[in-house]
Amino acid sequence: MKLILLGPPGAGKGTQAKMLTERFGIPQISTGDILRAAVKAGTPLGQQAKACMDAGTLVPDAVVVGIVRDRLQEADCQAGFILDGFPRTVPQAEALDATLAGLGKELDAVLSLEVDVEALVERLTGRRTCRECGRGYHVKFDPPRQAGICDACGGELFQRDDDQETTIRKRLEVYQAQTAPLADHYQKHDLLTRVDGMQEIGSVQQQLLAALRAA
Ligand code: ADP
Ligand code: ADP
Ligand code: ZN
Repeated sequence: MKLILLGPPGAGKGTQAKMLTERFGIPQISTGDILRAAVKAGTPLGQQAKACMDAGTLVPDAVVVGIVRDRLQEADCQAGFILDGFPRTVPQAEALDATLAGLGKELDAVLSLEVDVEALVERLTGRRTCRECGRGYHVKFDPPRQAGICDACGGELFQRDDDQETTIRKRLEVYQAQTAPLADHYQKHDLLTRVDGMQEIGSVQQQLLAALRAA
């Protein structure tokens, strides 16, 4: 199964992708996770990406397109993949179309999580992430059993630098201007299904599974 999870920052893409990954045994490809790992490792890619990520703007298309092109050719993507946070611009979507065509692959579905702006801000300000395994939590909506500690691996939970209100508002503006137009792109390809992302995590998951059965 070859999927894209579309939606603004905080819509629940990462949370839902992790659950789908376990269910279908296909990898989650999160460009945000890949870029954060590069920043942490201090690679040239990380040094280039950091300023954009701190400012809440997008890393240049050529950079992320190259990352995804390489990643899709790895062996674990043979049976399918879930793209989370990519594409984010029309040129990225067009580059993805070309890459998949070159590999003889086609997308099965693009699932768009729809969430109100104020709910997004509340989700992002309360988001916590495990430093070790990357699992996401929310202080109110999905708290760990013990505050600050990951249920899955015992790792320390931290708050992302870009999850503070001014940067969040900037990211939401960038989303409206540059990423929202992708819905049209995928609607034209007859791949888009909109899902009500305002429901609780379990019901969003059920809606996604229903949309995949219909795709
Ligand atoms: P969120 O989960 O909140 O939507 P991500 O982890 O996907 O955030 O992305 C964090 C940051 O990484 C973005 O604000 C942007 O700077 C950069 N980034 C991630 N994916 C892309 C992409 N496809 N194109 C450009 N920049 C990206
Ligand atoms: P994205 O990857 O789209 O930026 P995340 O999956 O990281 O979004 O979710 C953002 C925050 O909202 C996290 O703290 C997560 O625990 C929480 N969250 C995710 N889905 C829901 C939901 N359906 N209802 C309430 N909170 C949610
Ligand atoms: Zn963990």
